[in-house]
Amino acid sequence: MRKEWIGKKFGLLTIEALLPNRMAACRCDCGGETRVFLSNLPRGNTQTCGCIRRKIAASKITTHGRSSTPEYRAWSLMRNRCHNPKARDYSNYGGRGIFVATEWRDSFELFFRDMGERPSRGYSLGRIDNDGPYAPHNCRWETPDQQAQNRRQRNTSGTVYPKRNKRREDLIGTRSIPEAIAA
Ligand SMILES: [Zn+2]
Repeated sequence: MRKEWIGKKFGLLTIEALLPNRMAACRCDCGGETRVFLSNLPRGNTQTCGCIRRKIAASKITTHGRSSTPEYRAWSLMRNRCHNPKARDYSNYGGRGIFVATEWRDSFELFFRDMGERPSRGYSLGRIDNDGPYAPHNCRWETPDQQAQNRRQRNTSGTVYPKRNKRREDLIGTRSIPEAIAA
């Protein structure tokens, strides 16, 4: 009975083999392989290996012109402030030793891979440790509230906040003094 599933096609996925735990190994039209829960196939919950979603994410960067995305703009401003001595804000960034991690400096794609899309309008690129570099462990998209809080903290005291080395997720919501870059 279950063997009848083999060769059936759902969306872009063709079932190649049945696996334990009601899973199936599928071949996608794009050539990719994926393992899915059988029950998700007829319902249409799973129809590709993920290639379509990846393609859409990529096309947002390429076909619409990278420079028009907020992520690209944030990346470009970040590099400028840190590595272009002629930039207006250079003294607050590159001038005081703030740099962009080499990977990110060289590649918007890697920056985008690590940071993902800006969650929505109003978010901006911020650093968790104000004296730290622009690097995956030290950056996040900040809400307007976080930006306002950071501005207050910068303006009101010389308090030194401990350096942290936790994963980005752990730092969301903790006190910190990142810079906000208007994206
Ligand atoms: Zn695919």
